[in-house]
Amino acid sequence: MNVKAEHRVQNGNGFCPNIVNIKKGFGLIKKKVEVPTQNVPLSLPKTVDSLCPECLSRISATIYEEGGKIWMKKKCEKHGEFKDLIYSNAELYKKIEQWTFEDAPGLNKWIVNNPECNLNCGLCNNHLSVGCQVTIDLTNRCNLNCPICFANANKTGKVFELTKEQIDLTLDNLDKIDPKPGVVMWAGGEPTVHPHFLYACEQAKKKGIGYILVATNGIAIANSLEFAKKAKEAGADCLYLQFDGIGDKYYIGTRGKPLWETKKKAIENCRKSGLKVVLVPTVVKNVNGDQVGPILDFAIKNSDVIVGISYQPVSITGRIKYEERMKMRETISDVCDDIEEYTHGLLKTMRDWYPLAMASPISKLLARLYGHFILRPSCHSNCGLGTYLLIDPEGNPFPVTKFIDFEGFFTELNEYQKKIKTKTKFKALSALKAFQLMKKYYKKEEAPNGMSFLKMLRILDNLIGPSSKAVPYEQREWKMMLIMSMQFQDSYCFNFDRIKRCNIHYSAPDGKLYPFCTYNSGPCYREKVESNFRVPLNEWKKRAAQNAKK
Ligand code: SF4
Ligand code: SF4
Repeated sequence: MNVKAEHRVQNGNGFCPNIVNIKKGFGLIKKKVEVPTQNVPLSLPKTVDSLCPECLSRISATIYEEGGKIWMKKKCEKHGEFKDLIYSNAELYKKIEQWTFEDAPGLNKWIVNNPECNLNCGLCNNHLSVGCQVTIDLTNRCNLNCPICFANANKTGKVFELTKEQIDLTLDNLDKIDPKPGVVMWAGGEPTVHPHFLYACEQAKKKGIGYILVATNGIAIANSLEFAKKAKEAGADCLYLQFDGIGDKYYIGTRGKPLWETKKKAIENCRKSGLKVVLVPTVVKNVNGDQVGPILDFAIKNSDVIVGISYQPVSITGRIKYEERMKMRETISDVCDDIEEYTHGLLKTMRDWYPLAMASPISKLLARLYGHFILRPSCHSNCGLGTYLLIDPEGNPFPVTKFIDFEGFFTELNEYQKKIKTKTKFKALSALKAFQLMKKYYKKEEAPNGMSFLKMLRILDNLIGPSSKAVPYEQREWKMMLIMSMQFQDSYCFNFDRIKRCNIHYSAPDGKLYPFCTYNSGPCYREKVESNFRVPLNEWKKRAAQNAKK
């Protein structure tokens, strides 16, 4: 069956009836199916709720197409009109709106009871997605003093740093999320400078967190192989490594220091200690916009230790005039288009990129098979796109979406999983049927040399099957690399539809959970939370000296 959506209308319940062409025999028949969608306004122009970048009042905004790009415009009665670029590629924007999946708020005990989403977060009953990854800031101290960072202790003169008890409390917070997220990210400041960093990793593992990420500049890991080994032993799995480009000039511009050798050394120490690496380039158009392709090359060459890239088009803080902003503004689709150009079409923007929520039918299938609610990503399609590269034993990359028809497979899988009865004794049969579906959408003639359908199944099993049975990453002949382009919001492009679906949450020492983009932008809860817990830098230094003598 070849399914292609021809026409859609929104019916308000999260599913859109679609008329599709289905190949039958030698002809085509028309059939109505439900293609999975989020209940978000489709088609353009559309009106969404946003914020005034000056006074943060809630105002309406229009998202519209002009000149092949997608824009947001809005007007505050007090502060005038604002315009911002949302996507540089309107065709990609329209495609990804078609490939989104419905709400998944989980079974949470909500902390705040709100009449509606009014950014009185922490989290509230109106939130539409369950947290998949939780970030915990250990400290705002840092061993760098980047010119672009305004939040670290060196700049503010105040230290926010969790005590051991607060580390435990922020981890206990995760029990309020049901199902419990499988990924915790230690962040900061620089989390590795915290005296209890190793304790934090150990505690997270003890509390059953499956995967521990460390958002870091890599200095501590580069400086000491022993520290890298200790971090691994304590439970850290992967560095989320700040990585602005290939060569010193990019780091001198953004971090104030030549850090290229440090980055390479950190990656080498990860290789030796068993830690994995996700490269995290913050992309600013006129600063390191030319590095999107070279960073991909670097990752492929080091795919024995680098498991992914998370490109993050810059989130712009402060008051910046439109002309200046446009020089900096990189969008999610710019990353995709830059990669298509750099790889001479190996990775294609329109064929290979999908919203991160596209993985939802697989989660739902697993939930049906195992009979309980399993985490599933249902963040807004504008928050991030992803694609998988398969890398053969000689180091040659192949986009998985070239030889697996994702659209056909996920549409049919989503329909199929609804029919599976939970806790059925026919679970094995149901799993077999899912594999058969995959086979139907596997394009043998497009697959790389040496790849077969069964091999591909084993590779996928390592990714989504029980981790206890997975082949250790180092021993895998073919590597899978996840490439993401994720844009955090700022008040210029702020969209309430996105925020309500946020599935990256902060666990804070006030006992609450906050969506990432309300913690760091818009109402900026980080400032409110940290102001209740931080102490002046001098006082903190005195306390640290006393503790060191004990
Ligand atoms: S962003 Fe989410 S948690 Fe915050 S007020 Fe809106 S719905 Fe509630
Ligand atoms: S952090 Fe921001 S960009 Fe990411 S899912 Fe949440 S709302 Fe969307």
